[in-house]
Amino acid sequence: MHDLVIDNAVVLDGLGGPARAGGVAVAGGRIAAVGHDLGAARQRVDARGLALAPGIVDIHTHYDAQLTWDPFATPSTALGVTTVVIGNCGFTIAPCRPADRDLTLRNLTHVEGMALEALRAGVRWDFESYPQYLDAMEHRGVVPNVASFLGHSSLRTYVLGAEATRRAATPAEVAEMRRLVLEAVRAGAVGFATSTLEQHNGENGIPMPSRLADEAELLALTGALGEAGRGVFMLTKGMTSSIPWLEKVAAASGRPVMIAAMFVDPGDPARVFRELGEIEAARGRGRELWAQVGCFPLGMEFTLRHPYPLEAFLAWRPAIEAADEAAYRRVLADASFRKRLKDEAATPGVPNRFSYKTFAHLAIADVRRAEHRALVGRTIGALASESGRDPFDVFLDFGLDGELDAMFDCKLFNTDEDEVRRLLRHPHAAVALSDAGAHLSFLCDAGFGLHLFGHWVRERGDLTLPEAVKRVTSDVAAAYRVPERGRLQPGAWADLLLFDAATVGRGPKRRVNDLPTGATRLDTPAVGVHGVWVNGVRTADERGVLADCGRPGRVLREFTA
Ligand SMILES: [Zn+2]
Repeated sequence: MHDLVIDNAVVLDGLGGPARAGGVAVAGGRIAAVGHDLGAARQRVDARGLALAPGIVDIHTHYDAQLTWDPFATPSTALGVTTVVIGNCGFTIAPCRPADRDLTLRNLTHVEGMALEALRAGVRWDFESYPQYLDAMEHRGVVPNVASFLGHSSLRTYVLGAEATRRAATPAEVAEMRRLVLEAVRAGAVGFATSTLEQHNGENGIPMPSRLADEAELLALTGALGEAGRGVFMLTKGMTSSIPWLEKVAAASGRPVMIAAMFVDPGDPARVFRELGEIEAARGRGRELWAQVGCFPLGMEFTLRHPYPLEAFLAWRPAIEAADEAAYRRVLADASFRKRLKDEAATPGVPNRFSYKTFAHLAIADVRRAEHRALVGRTIGALASESGRDPFDVFLDFGLDGELDAMFDCKLFNTDEDEVRRLLRHPHAAVALSDAGAHLSFLCDAGFGLHLFGHWVRERGDLTLPEAVKRVTSDVAAAYRVPERGRLQPGAWADLLLFDAATVGRGPKRRVNDLPTGATRLDTPAVGVHGVWVNGVRTADERGVLADCGRPGRVLREFTA
């Protein structure tokens, strides 16, 4: 007798095979059979023609802190996700000495977009070393399955202390970090993650520790993956990390390299395709490079008080360093500051960055002063061309006019969908980039899989449903060496998503305040999701997550080579 049979479904196997009428039988947390006449079961679900696919594998999340108080990885469980990979970009909370806990949270608050008070109140520090972090998570339990990177920034802070954000490591420190990478991978880390991205700053604009690493350090630490013979090197790249350099890392370590974030940049739309060409050439030489791409325009909400997208400008430094609001206002008003900013923005070929092209996609979402209400919904680009002024002047003058807390809605990258479709269909692309669990105050892309099925399959027809399902299940599971998941096959784990292909998508953005201390985050509800199962246990139904589902997820610690 099976534990569960779901029948009368349209089965998508996650491997790209054609959609087939039928169902699955589950026993002992695994798929026992796929097809028709599945036999007796303790529990039966009549899918009434809905689509049944493997659960979504989200390889780019930041639930490292949140999972210590929220086993559901909210909102991913509701959005059809059955496996999350945490520790991306190297932002983790382990290893961490008790004395560095507050420093670690202060580093995270900015990139996570989560209030420091929420992190301080929420994080449960029941670990110090990285293996202890995995053990503690296993002990507390999780709802989705979790695979975890060892994060470079935490590793650096662990070995260099407060110096981690200031200098290169000594050879002895590099050797100690390398030993810890090996220890982590042997204990069950999915790999090692870092960031060289210029926007990745901690509190007060101090760079994240990984940004201080030199080439010798990166080669030594990725070399540890080579020595272990397992693990993925994940990197969110800034302007200093070229694809040929990453090919060198892949060649030296013999390990896969996952490169985020590959966007179509309206300021230089050809660049991402040039880089994809370099990745293809590297593949031809036997180096496994992956381009991590996303299916949303990279949009975010921000205020001029916390202008994350502007912080990548070298010319923005004086604004970051301003001691108080009065000093900040003086910097923003300063003509020479603005001139340097304008010059830098007009320089072509500078990657992943706010440019003059951005202003057409930078809208005023909300204002503080009643007399500005008519401006809501207008873009800075339109206001600038109407007035014949430089958009930076329009933008900064608006902020200085009592609107430092006005909300902007900005689409930075992936604004041209005909270009994005080329990324989504690329054979060496890994579709992800949800950043779920991070940037909570200004974006929520955790529903990327549902959006892929709804928008890119049903509305645009750029991918077939079997292809789209494969992209966010078996393809990414294979890239990360996650065995027996992301596919509906006898013997595989029963991670399942039941949805209505005619309506699936993500709902409108809304603000909710369910973080510790009542802090708010952006959320998007699921549309068309009828059920989610992790290791054969139902974690969500058509009304949302099942609070009493237990903690059926596993901390994934064994990966194939
Ligand atoms: Zn990230």
